[in-house]
Formats: sequence, C-alpha cells, structure tokens
Amino acid sequence: MKLFVLGVSFVTVSWLAWINREVNSRNEAYKYCKVLADNPEFPWAKQLNSQARQAHAERAWAAIERFFLNCKAKIKVKKGYPKFKKYQVRASVEYKTSGWKLSNDRKYLTFSDKFQAGTFRLWGSRDLHYYQLKQIKRVRVVRRHDGYYVQFLINHSRKETKKLCNKQIGLDVGLNHFYTDSFGNKVDNPRFLRKGERRIKKLQRRLSRTEKGSSNRTKARNRLGRAHLKVSRRRNDWVCKLAQRVIQSNDLVAIENLKVRNMVKNHCLAKSINDAAWYKFREWLEYFGTIYGVKVIAVDPKYTSQNCYSCGDKVVKTLSTRTHNCPHCSYIGDRDENAAINILSAALEQLKTTLGHRESHASGENPLCLAVETPLSKGTRRKRKPS
Ligand SMILES: [Zn+2]
Repeated sequence: MKLFVLGVSFVTVSWLAWINREVNSRNEAYKYCKVLADNPEFPWAKQLNSQARQAHAERAWAAIERFFLNCKAKIKVKKGYPKFKKYQVRASVEYKTSGWKLSNDRKYLTFSDKFQAGTFRLWGSRDLHYYQLKQIKRVRVVRRHDGYYVQFLINHSRKETKKLCNKQIGLDVGLNHFYTDSFGNKVDNPRFLRKGERRIKKLQRRLSRTEKGSSNRTKARNRLGRAHLKVSRRRNDWVCKLAQRVIQSNDLVAIENLKVRNMVKNHCLAKSINDAAWYKFREWLEYFGTIYGVKVIAVDPKYTSQNCYSCGDKVVKTLSTRTHNCPHCSYIGDRDENAAINILSAALEQLKTTLGHRESHASGENPLCLAVETPLSKGTRRKRKPS
C-alpha cells in the first residue's frame, strides 16, 4: 500500500526541514505542510488529505520535541535524535476528521482524498453504531504482519460501576510467579514466548536460509512476523484480562514502580522479563483503575523484598532465597508475600502523605485506549507486497 510510504515520507521531509532550520516550532511545522503540498518536487504530498498531512507533521514535531526534552533532562540513555524513516511493515497513516467516510451501515470505510485508496469493508467485534460520528476524532490505518487494520480514536469516556469490597491488595511481580499478592495468592507466569519459541526459532532459521530479495524471503519474513504477533497478542490479552479482574475485586491496588528498561539489561533474564510483560500489566491496571475508580499506587521498589513486614528490619536475601526468615522477630514466610505486604503498606503510607494534594494521575491519556484495532476487509489481507 503506497499510502504508508506517503505518510512515512511526510515525516521524513518534515525532519529534513527541521535539520535545515526551515521549521522551528509546531506551528511552523503545520505551515510547512502547505509549502510541501505546493512544491512540484513532491507531487505525492498533495495526494494526502490536508489534515492527514498535519497529523504527520505533528508526529514529526513530537519526536523533535521529545529529543529536546530528553536533552534538557540530561537523561543517561539514548536521547532519541530523530531518525529518517525506513520502509517498515508496522507503518501507519493517520487521518483527522476529513479524508474518510463511513458508510451508512458503518461497515465500509472510504478514503476520499486524492490518493484514492478506495473502499474497505470493516470486520471486527466492535460496533461503531455505539458511537456518534462526531465522536470519532482520528482514523488511523496501520499495518501489521497479518494485514491492515484501522484504529478509530473515539472521544468517549468509559465509566464502569463497581461495588466497594473493602479489599486492598499489594502485588509483587516476579519470574517464578507472575505476581504474588499480599494475601499469599500466586498467579502463574504463562510464558507465551517460551511456548511459541520453538516455532519462532524454526521460522527464523528458515528466513535466514532464503536468498536476499527473493519472494520466498518475503514470505518467510511474513510468517515469522505473524508468529511473533501471535505471541504478543496472547500475552496482551492475558495481561489485560488479569488486570481487569484484579481491579474489579479490589478497592486499592499497590504495585512496584519497576524500571523494566534497567532490569532488561540483565542479559540472562532479559527474555523472561520481556515475556512477563509487567509494564503492560501496570498500564492496564492504571487504565482499568481510572475506569472503575480504583486507586492504583506505584511505590518505590527499594527494600520491598528485603525488609521484614512484621518488624520493619532489613533481612538481606539473594534472589534465590525464596523464604523470608527474620532473625529479629522470628517471622517466617514466603519471600514474595512479604514483599507484597511491604508494597501495600508503602502505598498506604504514600496515600496518607499525598492525601489532600491533587491526584497526579492524568486520566484519559492512556495509550492503551488506542490499542483496540478493527481489521480491514479480508480481501485486502493478501496484498502485502511493498509497493
Ligand atoms: Zn522481622
């Protein structure tokens, strides 16, 4: 689909303009869209809907801004100097409120800009009749390894009611068990990657045996991509449902504020940690927390596993010591349960001190609201050749 190349080129050219000092602010980036569209050197720029052009200018500017902020904050890791976009499978094009049209029965989506991508049948589990047309603020076409999807960004605040159940819970995530809560319950780690690994490895081998640039290579890459996609979808689905269950049956959820990025640096555990998807879990917890009105508090993970919950003294343990055996107060218990209770009490402490202050969680900005995708018509699924 050339449409993606269009969107990607747009971001690229906007960056080029920034490097050449032609664009120095968000507003200038918007204005530059017009300049580009009128430039005969870039005949493709005019094909894309004007609002879609702006959406891509926004993206380019967001990347530049993030780079500046990171420089200002002097972060130690990569600051993210804007890169030129390459050809990619996971590409997307974003429309705002014009350039597309839903049919009356809301089963077909037509792109009406000069690019003339055509009409697509929508199929998926979401019913678009549930929303007003004017609630749809953006339409994003994305490509995954198994086809094209469209994301509708809908201005809708979801609120669910939940009865108080007088339960507060602390969660300690780990690799042996996905989490251990402060009541001592454990949830097993499903390890989706470990399960799918054999197939992925086989497909990876097959890919590396194919000739570069051959159509067999494209096919093999596609199969591998789909296998990865399956693993990540299963993982996300599992994590999402688990988070919803946790939120529905508690009034307060305490978690650790883990720096997953730093932990992944431990080479031996990196794969397992990534497979565990703790960060996704936390995102879903926070998302459902705002929907159900449940407080989700992230606490500093310092000493949560070392301190004894009953006397507060420090009991030094290595990762392999699974029981907590306190020499000061002779409390013996599960290591993770002890940590979960510590996390809960730290969260309650934090709540006490911040009570009266305004809540820091900005609601409605959760990126997971956008994660639900509606697949485009089956007919378009096969066409995946880079055009
Ligand atoms: Zn103790």
